[in-house]
Amino acid sequence: MEMDIQLTREPIPEKIFPPAPAGTCGAWLEFRGLVRGEENGRAIAALEYEAYSPMAENQMRRILESLASKFPCLAAKIIHRLGVVPAGETAIYVGLAAAHRGEAMALLTEFLDRLKQDVPIWKRRALPATEGAAPRLSNGGQRSVCPAPLSFDEARRELDLRCVPLPAVRAPLEEAFGRVLREEIRAVEDAPATDKSTRDGYAILQNDPSETFQIVETIQAADWKPRPLNTGQAARVATGASLPCENCRVVMQENVERHGDTIKILRREKSANVRRRGEEWRAGEKLLSAGTKLDAGALALLAAAGIPRPLVSPRLRIGHFTTGEEIVPPEQTPGPGQVRDSNSILIRGLLQAFPGDLFQRHLPEDFQKARRVMETLPVSPSAFDLLLVSGGASVGETDFSRALLEWLDFEIIFARLNLRPGRPLIFGVKGRRLAFGLPGNPLSHFVCFHLFVAAALAKLIGAEPKPFLRGPLAKKLDTAPDPRETFWPAQVQSENGRRTLTPLPWHSSGDATCLPMANALIRLPPHCGALEAGEEVEFLPTH
Ligand code: AMP
Ligand code: MG
Repeated sequence: MEMDIQLTREPIPEKIFPPAPAGTCGAWLEFRGLVRGEENGRAIAALEYEAYSPMAENQMRRILESLASKFPCLAAKIIHRLGVVPAGETAIYVGLAAAHRGEAMALLTEFLDRLKQDVPIWKRRALPATEGAAPRLSNGGQRSVCPAPLSFDEARRELDLRCVPLPAVRAPLEEAFGRVLREEIRAVEDAPATDKSTRDGYAILQNDPSETFQIVETIQAADWKPRPLNTGQAARVATGASLPCENCRVVMQENVERHGDTIKILRREKSANVRRRGEEWRAGEKLLSAGTKLDAGALALLAAAGIPRPLVSPRLRIGHFTTGEEIVPPEQTPGPGQVRDSNSILIRGLLQAFPGDLFQRHLPEDFQKARRVMETLPVSPSAFDLLLVSGGASVGETDFSRALLEWLDFEIIFARLNLRPGRPLIFGVKGRRLAFGLPGNPLSHFVCFHLFVAAALAKLIGAEPKPFLRGPLAKKLDTAPDPRETFWPAQVQSENGRRTLTPLPWHSSGDATCLPMANALIRLPPHCGALEAGEEVEFLPTH
């Protein structure tokens, strides 16, 4: 079969002439795949396609060859357009010559199915109707595949719009630590449920003036022995015991002289030594609000209130994939050009605040190989609520994070930000599932985690992302003005209830030395330059 396969950034011509293949041609079948003006219910102006060209061409050739043995055809012409393809225009053209229409039609159908599955050509993004009407142009009028980088605020707005809380689940208290309560908790009964003694001693009527009393009952903490007390009668009670009737007080045993079954009160304390029924809470009273992060204290309250399976956020399933041929495990001595992997343990530590299961794996620095690793994981990538790719987020020769996320069907919302460190940050969504391509440098990884990943995780579990705060600088922040918004690692300290910020030294986003001390990120507007000690700054606490 003759084959002509082209990938082009030019529009596909309206008229394509059939080849004149050797053999008797009885059918020339043409197919054009057009970009529809709508995707997922949204009006779009264009789709942007990207491909690994030589690989895509080879793959198409292989598929055609294998199909031709089943459906013999005489010639095939395939043209796939890349870059921005406006709605209504042809994204793919397939022309097939065959002796009879049957083979050509069968081959076309199977070829289109395989194309979608097996050929590294991706829809990079859909341009919304408004944006697509006037695609941003650059380089002398060429259509740009790199939209202007977003500011931090713009990127966070996009993120906020797209992160939806995952469905809540009921979990036993032992498994609920660190999760977010997703229901309001109201008391089902009074606490305490009865009047209880706070002392080991003797219960008597509140206003009984007698000096000596007859012991008529003994009540331990676990007993329930309701009965009236008359004047001159006492019940021996243990700490925590339910009192026999209302309107009692308890005299401590230290203030009593006992002879057999009678007691003489030597001294009456001011306190009644009683925890009254409903004194802590009344049935129906609100105990915890939805959105509370369950710490040990909150769990103790749930246990005390008899809520053994609260409705909480689910355990998160997170995948973190490192990339980079130069990356070696921390235990290995790096050769020239190699770098120890610090991002894996960094992410493991940072995720301690979000209970879940973390799956980590290193990916080979080759898109096809990385794809194969993803296809053969013990966990399907579609099981991850959040997928993180470390490194390869930029546009270098070997940077494939974006392509990988697109291949996994994530819609890329943004891929470049106007901030430092962390300019190449990719954010993608697929339904409720989220993905980030994080820059590989450790400081960028740390900053992007706190600015975006932690906020997204908070939203997924139904909590509020940490808010920015304000405080004065404890020391001069010495930096040259930078056109990008900067998030500067810092240490926040509390002195007499006042939070002050000490900027930490860093030289490049490859630094890791400031990470152990950093518990805040100072936000510096673009072109800000140095700030003197005492100046007030905005900052995001990271702990
Ligand atoms: P990339 O984002 O892939 O361009 O990587 C940027 C820099 O980050 C390179 O110098 C990498 O060696 C470094 N880097 C990438 N991944 C890691 C990692 N897991 N741990 C430490 N450094 C890394
Ligand atoms: Mg890399």
